[in-house]
Amino acid sequence: MKILVINAGSSSIKYQLLDMENEKLLAKGLVERIGELEYSSLTHKANGNSTTIMRPLQDHAQGLEFVLSTLVDSELGVIKSLDEISAVGHRIVHGSEKYNSAVLVNDEVIKDIKDFIALAPLHMPANLLGIEACKKVMPGKKNVAVFDTAFHTTMPDYAYMYAVPHSWYEDFRVRKYGFHGTSHEYIANELSRVLGKDIKDLKIISCHIGNGASICAVKNGQCIDTTMGFTPLEGLVMGTRSGDIDPAVVEYMSNKTGMDIHEVITALNKKSGLLGLSEHYSDHRDIMKYSNEGDKKSMLARKKFVYVIKKYIGAYAAAMNGVDAIAFSAGIGENSYEMREEVMQDMEYLGINFDKEANKNFERGVNYKLSKDTSKVSVYVIPTDEEMSIARQTKYVLGNL
Ligand code: ADP
Repeated sequence: MKILVINAGSSSIKYQLLDMENEKLLAKGLVERIGELEYSSLTHKANGNSTTIMRPLQDHAQGLEFVLSTLVDSELGVIKSLDEISAVGHRIVHGSEKYNSAVLVNDEVIKDIKDFIALAPLHMPANLLGIEACKKVMPGKKNVAVFDTAFHTTMPDYAYMYAVPHSWYEDFRVRKYGFHGTSHEYIANELSRVLGKDIKDLKIISCHIGNGASICAVKNGQCIDTTMGFTPLEGLVMGTRSGDIDPAVVEYMSNKTGMDIHEVITALNKKSGLLGLSEHYSDHRDIMKYSNEGDKKSMLARKKFVYVIKKYIGAYAAAMNGVDAIAFSAGIGENSYEMREEVMQDMEYLGINFDKEANKNFERGVNYKLSKDTSKVSVYVIPTDEEMSIARQTKYVLGNL
Protein backbone atom coordinates (compact mmCIF):
# COMPACT_ATOMS: atom_id res chain seq x y z
CA MET A 1 0.00 0.00 0.00
CA LYS A 2 1.50 3.32 -1.12
CA ILE A 3 0.36 6.58 0.40
CA LEU A 4 1.06 10.07 -0.85
CA VAL A 5 1.36 12.64 1.92
CA ILE A 6 0.64 16.25 0.99
CA ASN A 7 1.39 19.33 3.08
CA ALA A 8 0.09 22.28 1.09
CA GLY A 9 1.18 25.82 1.93
CA SER A 10 0.01 29.05 0.36
CA SER A 11 2.53 28.82 -2.49
CA SER A 12 4.08 25.42 -1.92
CA ILE A 13 3.36 21.70 -1.80
CA LYS A 14 5.53 19.39 0.28
CA TYR A 15 5.07 15.74 -0.58
CA GLN A 16 6.24 12.28 0.36
CA LEU A 17 5.39 8.95 -1.17
CA LEU A 18 5.60 6.14 1.38
CA ASP A 19 5.31 2.41 0.96
CA MET A 20 3.28 1.44 4.01
CA GLU A 21 3.95 -2.29 3.68
CA ASN A 22 7.40 -1.62 5.14
CA GLU A 23 7.08 2.09 6.07
CA LYS A 24 9.71 2.96 3.48
CA LEU A 25 10.10 6.43 2.00
CA LEU A 26 10.05 6.15 -1.80
CA ALA A 27 10.30 9.80 -2.77
CA LYS A 28 9.89 13.23 -1.32
CA GLY A 29 10.00 16.76 -2.56
CA LEU A 30 8.81 20.31 -2.59
CA VAL A 31 7.03 22.45 -5.15
CA GLU A 32 7.78 26.09 -4.47
CA ARG A 33 6.68 29.52 -5.59
CA ILE A 34 3.42 28.37 -7.13
CA GLY A 35 1.84 31.30 -8.95
CA GLU A 36 5.16 33.05 -9.53
CA LEU A 37 5.40 31.34 -12.92
CA GLU A 38 9.00 31.98 -14.02
CA TYR A 39 10.26 31.15 -10.52
CA SER A 40 8.12 28.06 -9.84
CA SER A 41 10.12 24.91 -9.26
CA LEU A 42 10.00 21.34 -8.05
CA THR A 43 12.75 19.66 -6.08
CA HIS A 44 12.39 15.91 -6.11
CA LYS A 45 14.41 13.45 -4.04
CA ALA A 46 14.39 9.75 -4.80
CA ASN A 47 16.88 6.89 -5.05
CA GLY A 48 19.59 9.01 -3.44
CA ASN A 49 19.31 11.79 -6.04
CA SER A 50 17.95 15.30 -5.79
CA THR A 51 16.66 17.03 -8.92
CA THR A 52 15.34 20.58 -9.26
CA ILE A 53 13.22 21.47 -12.27
CA MET A 54 11.88 24.95 -13.06
CA ARG A 55 8.43 25.09 -14.65
CA PRO A 56 5.74 27.79 -14.67
CA LEU A 57 3.00 26.73 -12.27
CA GLN A 58 -0.17 28.74 -12.14
CA ASP A 59 -1.92 27.04 -9.24
CA HIS A 60 -1.84 24.09 -6.83
CA ALA A 61 -3.52 21.77 -9.36
CA GLN A 62 -0.68 22.39 -11.80
CA GLY A 63 1.82 21.91 -8.98
CA LEU A 64 0.25 18.59 -8.04
CA GLU A 65 0.14 17.47 -11.68
CA PHE A 66 3.87 18.18 -11.81
CA VAL A 67 4.44 16.09 -8.68
CA LEU A 68 2.41 13.18 -10.02
CA SER A 69 4.05 13.20 -13.46
CA THR A 70 7.44 13.20 -11.71
CA LEU A 71 6.44 10.24 -9.51
CA VAL A 72 5.64 8.16 -12.62
CA ASP A 73 8.44 9.62 -14.79
CA SER A 74 10.53 6.94 -16.50
CA GLU A 75 13.78 8.45 -15.17
CA LEU A 76 12.95 10.24 -11.91
CA GLY A 77 9.86 8.26 -10.97
CA VAL A 78 9.40 5.57 -8.33
CA ILE A 79 6.09 4.06 -9.46
CA LYS A 80 4.74 2.92 -12.83
CA SER A 81 1.21 4.21 -12.50
CA LEU A 82 -0.81 6.48 -10.21
CA ASP A 83 -3.08 3.49 -9.59
CA GLU A 84 -0.38 2.28 -7.20
CA ILE A 85 -1.24 5.17 -4.84
CA SER A 86 -3.94 3.89 -2.46
CA ALA A 87 -4.79 7.27 -0.94
CA VAL A 88 -3.56 10.76 -0.22
CA GLY A 89 -3.06 11.92 3.38
CA HIS A 90 -3.38 15.67 3.85
CA ARG A 91 -1.96 17.71 6.70
CA ILE A 92 -4.77 19.98 7.83
CA VAL A 93 -3.80 22.51 10.47
CA HIS A 94 -7.14 22.94 12.22
CA GLY A 95 -9.88 20.44 13.00
CA SER A 96 -11.53 22.63 15.65
CA GLU A 97 -13.28 20.62 18.38
CA LYS A 98 -15.04 18.36 15.92
CA TYR A 99 -12.20 16.19 14.64
CA ASN A 100 -10.39 14.10 17.23
CA SER A 101 -8.87 11.78 14.61
CA ALA A 102 -8.14 11.54 10.90
CA VAL A 103 -11.13 11.15 8.57
CA LEU A 104 -11.91 10.33 4.96
CA VAL A 105 -12.56 13.57 3.10
CA ASN A 106 -16.16 14.00 1.92
CA ASP A 107 -18.34 17.03 1.24
CA GLU A 108 -19.06 17.54 4.93
CA VAL A 109 -15.36 17.53 5.81
CA ILE A 110 -14.66 20.07 3.07
CA LYS A 111 -17.46 22.28 4.33
CA ASP A 112 -16.07 22.05 7.88
CA ILE A 113 -12.56 22.91 6.71
CA LYS A 114 -14.01 26.00 5.02
CA ASP A 115 -15.85 26.86 8.24
CA PHE A 116 -12.59 26.53 10.22
CA ILE A 117 -10.69 28.98 7.99
CA ALA A 118 -11.31 31.79 10.47
CA LEU A 119 -9.49 29.74 13.14
CA ALA A 120 -6.29 29.44 11.04
CA PRO A 121 -6.57 31.90 8.18
CA LEU A 122 -2.94 31.56 7.12
CA HIS A 123 -2.96 27.79 6.72
CA MET A 124 -6.46 26.47 6.06
CA PRO A 125 -7.04 28.00 2.60
CA ALA A 126 -3.77 26.41 1.44
CA ASN A 127 -4.65 23.05 3.02
CA LEU A 128 -7.95 23.17 1.17
CA LEU A 129 -6.18 23.94 -2.11
CA GLY A 130 -4.21 20.71 -1.64
CA ILE A 131 -7.40 18.66 -1.28
CA GLU A 132 -9.08 20.42 -4.19
CA ALA A 133 -6.05 19.88 -6.41
CA CYS A 134 -6.12 16.13 -5.62
CA LYS A 135 -9.84 15.91 -6.35
CA LYS A 136 -9.30 17.65 -9.67
CA VAL A 137 -6.18 15.85 -10.81
CA MET A 138 -6.96 12.38 -9.37
CA PRO A 139 -10.76 12.13 -9.28
CA GLY A 140 -11.93 9.12 -7.33
CA LYS A 141 -8.73 8.82 -5.28
CA LYS A 142 -9.37 8.64 -1.54
CA ASN A 143 -8.25 11.70 0.43
CA VAL A 144 -7.75 11.57 4.18
CA ALA A 145 -7.59 14.70 6.36
CA VAL A 146 -5.14 14.47 9.26
CA PHE A 147 -5.64 17.34 11.67
CA ASP A 148 -2.80 18.97 13.58
CA THR A 149 -5.15 19.75 16.46
CA ALA A 150 -6.71 16.26 16.76
CA PHE A 151 -4.26 14.83 19.29
CA HIS A 152 -5.00 17.70 21.66
CA THR A 153 -8.76 17.16 21.78
CA THR A 154 -8.32 14.98 24.88
CA MET A 155 -7.30 17.97 27.02
CA PRO A 156 -9.59 18.41 30.03
CA ASP A 157 -11.75 21.55 30.05
CA TYR A 158 -9.76 23.21 32.83
CA ALA A 159 -6.67 22.95 30.59
CA TYR A 160 -8.19 24.11 27.33
CA MET A 161 -10.50 26.83 28.65
CA TYR A 162 -9.22 30.35 29.07
CA ALA A 163 -10.56 32.17 32.11
CA VAL A 164 -12.48 34.68 30.00
CA PRO A 165 -16.24 35.31 29.76
CA HIS A 166 -17.78 31.91 29.14
CA SER A 167 -19.78 33.26 26.22
CA TRP A 168 -16.51 33.77 24.28
CA TYR A 169 -16.23 30.02 24.22
CA GLU A 170 -19.90 29.27 23.74
CA ASP A 171 -20.43 31.79 20.97
CA PHE A 172 -17.03 31.89 19.30
CA ARG A 173 -15.18 28.75 20.40
CA VAL A 174 -12.32 30.71 21.95
CA ARG A 175 -10.16 28.11 23.72
CA LYS A 176 -6.77 26.46 23.60
CA TYR A 177 -6.53 24.10 20.61
CA GLY A 178 -2.81 23.32 20.44
CA PHE A 179 -0.84 22.47 17.31
CA HIS A 180 1.97 20.10 16.23
CA GLY A 181 -0.39 17.31 17.36
CA THR A 182 0.71 14.91 14.63
CA SER A 183 4.29 15.37 15.73
CA HIS A 184 3.62 15.00 19.47
CA GLU A 185 1.57 11.87 18.85
CA TYR A 186 4.40 10.38 16.80
CA ILE A 187 7.04 11.34 19.39
CA ALA A 188 5.05 9.93 22.33
CA ASN A 189 4.39 6.64 20.53
CA GLU A 190 7.97 6.32 19.39
CA LEU A 191 9.23 7.04 22.91
CA SER A 192 7.01 4.38 24.44
CA ARG A 193 8.20 1.92 21.78
CA VAL A 194 11.86 2.73 22.51
CA LEU A 195 11.26 2.33 26.25
CA GLY A 196 9.42 -0.94 25.66
CA LYS A 197 6.51 0.30 27.78
CA ASP A 198 2.84 0.69 27.06
CA ILE A 199 2.06 4.35 26.37
CA LYS A 200 -0.94 3.92 28.71
CA ASP A 201 1.50 3.51 31.61
CA LEU A 202 3.66 6.55 30.85
CA LYS A 203 3.83 10.24 31.67
CA ILE A 204 5.64 11.88 28.78
CA ILE A 205 6.75 15.44 28.08
CA SER A 206 7.22 15.88 24.35
CA CYS A 207 9.28 18.91 23.32
CA HIS A 208 8.93 19.80 19.63
CA ILE A 209 11.49 22.58 19.39
CA GLY A 210 11.87 23.99 15.91
CA ASN A 211 11.35 27.41 14.45
CA GLY A 212 7.80 26.91 15.64
CA ALA A 213 7.93 25.19 19.03
CA SER A 214 5.57 23.56 21.48
CA ILE A 215 5.59 21.17 24.42
CA CYS A 216 2.91 18.60 25.10
CA ALA A 217 2.11 16.71 28.30
CA VAL A 218 1.02 13.17 27.39
CA LYS A 219 -0.43 11.14 30.26
CA ASN A 220 -1.41 7.52 29.65
CA GLY A 221 -1.31 8.12 25.89
CA GLN A 222 -3.48 11.21 25.93
CA CYS A 223 -2.60 14.88 25.60
CA ILE A 224 -3.56 16.64 28.81
CA ASP A 225 -2.01 20.02 28.05
CA THR A 226 0.09 21.78 25.47
CA THR A 227 1.81 25.13 25.19
CA MET A 228 0.33 26.50 21.96
CA GLY A 229 -3.14 27.90 22.33
CA PHE A 230 -5.97 29.38 20.31
CA THR A 231 -3.26 30.06 17.74
CA PRO A 232 0.38 28.92 17.49
CA LEU A 233 1.47 32.21 19.09
CA GLU A 234 1.06 31.10 22.71
CA GLY A 235 3.62 29.25 24.80
CA LEU A 236 7.32 28.98 24.15
CA VAL A 237 9.67 31.59 22.73
CA MET A 238 9.99 30.75 19.02
CA GLY A 239 12.01 31.93 16.05
CA THR A 240 9.86 35.00 15.45
CA ARG A 241 6.90 34.44 17.81
CA SER A 242 6.77 35.91 21.29
CA GLY A 243 5.07 33.00 23.04
CA ASP A 244 3.28 33.89 26.30
CA ILE A 245 2.70 37.58 26.85
CA ASP A 246 0.27 39.75 28.79
CA PRO A 247 -2.46 40.62 26.23
CA ALA A 248 -2.68 44.15 27.69
CA VAL A 249 0.59 44.85 25.86
CA VAL A 250 -1.37 44.77 22.59
CA GLU A 251 -3.50 47.78 23.47
CA TYR A 252 -0.62 49.61 25.13
CA MET A 253 1.64 49.26 22.08
CA SER A 254 -1.19 50.21 19.79
CA ASN A 255 -1.73 53.42 21.77
CA LYS A 256 1.97 54.19 21.99
CA THR A 257 2.92 53.56 18.37
CA GLY A 258 -0.26 53.99 16.34
CA MET A 259 -0.07 50.42 15.10
CA ASP A 260 -3.50 48.84 14.85
CA ILE A 261 -4.24 45.58 16.64
CA HIS A 262 -3.53 43.54 13.55
CA GLU A 263 -0.10 45.16 13.20
CA VAL A 264 0.78 44.52 16.83
CA ILE A 265 -0.25 40.86 16.54
CA THR A 266 1.77 40.57 13.33
CA ALA A 267 4.78 41.95 15.22
CA LEU A 268 4.21 39.32 17.94
CA ASN A 269 4.11 36.62 15.25
CA LYS A 270 6.82 37.79 12.90
CA LYS A 271 9.15 40.18 14.68
CA SER A 272 9.37 38.75 18.17
CA GLY A 273 10.84 35.62 19.75
CA LEU A 274 14.55 35.05 19.10
CA LEU A 275 14.44 37.65 16.34
CA GLY A 276 12.84 40.27 18.56
CA LEU A 277 15.15 39.77 21.54
CA SER A 278 18.36 39.54 19.53
CA GLU A 279 17.22 42.19 17.06
CA HIS A 280 18.84 40.19 14.25
CA TYR A 281 18.50 36.42 14.30
CA SER A 282 15.50 34.11 14.20
CA ASP A 283 17.65 31.09 13.40
CA HIS A 284 18.81 29.24 16.49
CA ARG A 285 22.22 28.51 14.96
CA ASP A 286 22.84 32.26 14.67
CA ILE A 287 21.73 32.83 18.25
CA MET A 288 24.23 30.21 19.43
CA LYS A 289 27.04 31.58 17.29
CA TYR A 290 26.61 35.21 18.30
CA SER A 291 25.88 34.51 21.95
CA ASN A 292 29.10 32.46 22.07
CA GLU A 293 30.88 35.48 20.63
CA GLY A 294 29.49 37.64 23.43
CA ASP A 295 26.60 39.46 21.73
CA LYS A 296 24.51 40.52 24.74
CA LYS A 297 21.11 40.47 23.05
CA SER A 298 21.73 37.03 21.56
CA MET A 299 22.79 35.84 25.03
CA LEU A 300 19.50 37.11 26.44
CA ALA A 301 17.51 35.44 23.63
CA ARG A 302 19.31 32.16 24.33
CA LYS A 303 18.62 32.34 28.07
CA LYS A 304 14.97 33.28 27.70
CA PHE A 305 14.41 30.52 25.14
CA VAL A 306 15.80 27.88 27.50
CA TYR A 307 14.13 29.36 30.58
CA VAL A 308 10.62 29.08 29.17
CA ILE A 309 11.18 25.46 28.07
CA LYS A 310 12.41 24.60 31.60
CA LYS A 311 9.39 26.31 33.13
CA TYR A 312 6.93 24.30 31.06
CA ILE A 313 8.72 21.02 31.76
CA GLY A 314 8.33 21.77 35.47
CA ALA A 315 4.71 22.80 34.98
CA TYR A 316 3.80 19.64 33.08
CA ALA A 317 5.58 17.40 35.56
CA ALA A 318 3.37 19.06 38.18
CA ALA A 319 0.25 18.68 36.02
CA MET A 320 0.89 14.93 35.58
CA ASN A 321 2.05 14.26 39.16
CA GLY A 322 5.46 13.32 37.77
CA VAL A 323 7.18 12.48 34.54
CA ASP A 324 8.65 9.20 33.25
CA ALA A 325 10.19 10.38 30.00
CA ILE A 326 11.12 13.57 28.17
CA ALA A 327 11.72 13.78 24.41
CA PHE A 328 13.47 16.49 22.40
CA SER A 329 12.56 16.78 18.75
CA ALA A 330 12.38 19.00 15.61
CA GLY A 331 15.08 21.24 14.12
CA ILE A 332 16.52 22.63 17.35
CA GLY A 333 15.56 19.79 19.69
CA GLU A 334 17.19 17.19 17.45
CA ASN A 335 20.30 19.17 16.58
CA SER A 336 21.33 21.54 19.34
CA TYR A 337 23.07 19.64 22.13
CA GLU A 338 23.82 22.98 23.82
CA MET A 339 20.13 23.84 24.07
CA ARG A 340 19.33 20.39 25.50
CA GLU A 341 22.15 20.64 28.03
CA GLU A 342 21.03 24.08 29.16
CA VAL A 343 17.41 22.96 29.52
CA MET A 344 18.42 19.86 31.47
CA GLN A 345 20.67 21.78 33.86
CA ASP A 346 19.52 21.77 37.50
CA MET A 347 16.70 19.31 36.85
CA GLU A 348 17.91 16.74 39.39
CA TYR A 349 14.93 17.60 41.60
CA LEU A 350 12.73 15.87 38.99
CA GLY A 351 14.82 12.71 39.08
CA ILE A 352 16.70 13.50 35.88
CA ASN A 353 20.26 12.25 35.68
CA PHE A 354 21.36 13.77 32.40
CA ASP A 355 24.28 12.27 30.49
CA LYS A 356 26.16 15.31 29.21
CA GLU A 357 28.71 13.24 27.31
CA ALA A 358 26.09 11.18 25.50
CA ASN A 359 24.22 14.37 24.73
CA LYS A 360 27.30 16.00 23.24
CA ASN A 361 28.27 12.95 21.19
CA PHE A 362 24.75 12.15 20.03
CA GLU A 363 24.07 10.52 16.70
CA ARG A 364 21.83 12.53 14.36
CA GLY A 365 18.63 11.18 12.88
CA VAL A 366 18.07 8.30 15.29
CA ASN A 367 16.28 7.80 18.61
CA TYR A 368 19.03 8.57 21.09
CA LYS A 369 19.20 8.21 24.87
CA LEU A 370 20.42 11.25 26.80
CA SER A 371 19.85 10.10 30.38
CA LYS A 372 21.99 7.80 32.48
CA ASP A 373 20.72 4.33 33.36
CA THR A 374 20.32 5.52 36.96
CA SER A 375 18.00 8.35 35.90
CA LYS A 376 14.44 8.05 37.17
CA VAL A 377 13.30 9.99 34.12
CA SER A 378 14.36 8.78 30.66
CA VAL A 379 15.46 11.57 28.33
CA TYR A 380 15.70 10.97 24.59
CA VAL A 381 16.09 12.68 21.26
CA ILE A 382 13.25 11.37 19.10
CA PRO A 383 13.48 12.65 15.53
CA THR A 384 9.95 13.57 14.55
CA ASP A 385 8.38 12.29 11.34
CA GLU A 386 5.10 14.04 10.74
CA GLU A 387 4.72 12.57 7.25
CA MET A 388 5.07 9.02 8.58
CA SER A 389 2.50 9.84 11.23
CA ILE A 390 0.12 11.19 8.56
CA ALA A 391 0.69 8.11 6.38
CA ARG A 392 0.04 5.77 9.34
CA GLN A 393 -3.17 7.57 10.21
CA THR A 394 -4.25 7.53 6.55
CA LYS A 395 -3.62 3.78 6.41
CA TYR A 396 -5.62 3.35 9.61
CA VAL A 397 -8.58 5.28 8.17
CA LEU A 398 -8.50 3.16 4.98
CA GLY A 399 -8.41 0.00 7.07
CA ASN A 400 -11.59 1.02 8.86
CA LEU A 401 -13.68 1.86 5.79
P1 ADP B 1 9.88 24.59 11.42
O1 ADP B 1 9.46 23.25 10.87
O2 ADP B 1 9.04 25.08 12.55
O3 ADP B 1 10.14 25.64 10.39
P2 ADP B 1 12.35 23.19 12.08
O4 ADP B 1 11.89 22.06 12.90
O5 ADP B 1 12.79 22.92 10.68
O6 ADP B 1 11.30 24.39 12.11
O7 ADP B 1 13.58 23.88 12.87
C1 ADP B 1 14.22 25.01 12.40
C2 ADP B 1 15.23 25.43 13.46
O8 ADP B 1 16.15 24.36 13.68
C3 ADP B 1 16.05 26.65 13.11
O9 ADP B 1 16.01 27.58 14.17
C4 ADP B 1 17.44 26.11 12.97
O10 ADP B 1 18.40 26.99 13.42
C5 ADP B 1 17.42 24.89 13.85
N1 ADP B 1 18.47 23.96 13.45
C6 ADP B 1 18.54 23.25 12.33
N2 ADP B 1 19.70 22.56 12.28
C7 ADP B 1 20.38 22.87 13.41
C8 ADP B 1 21.62 22.51 13.96
N3 ADP B 1 22.43 21.70 13.32
N4 ADP B 1 21.96 23.02 15.16
C9 ADP B 1 21.14 23.87 15.82
N5 ADP B 1 19.95 24.25 15.35
C10 ADP B 1 19.58 23.77 14.17
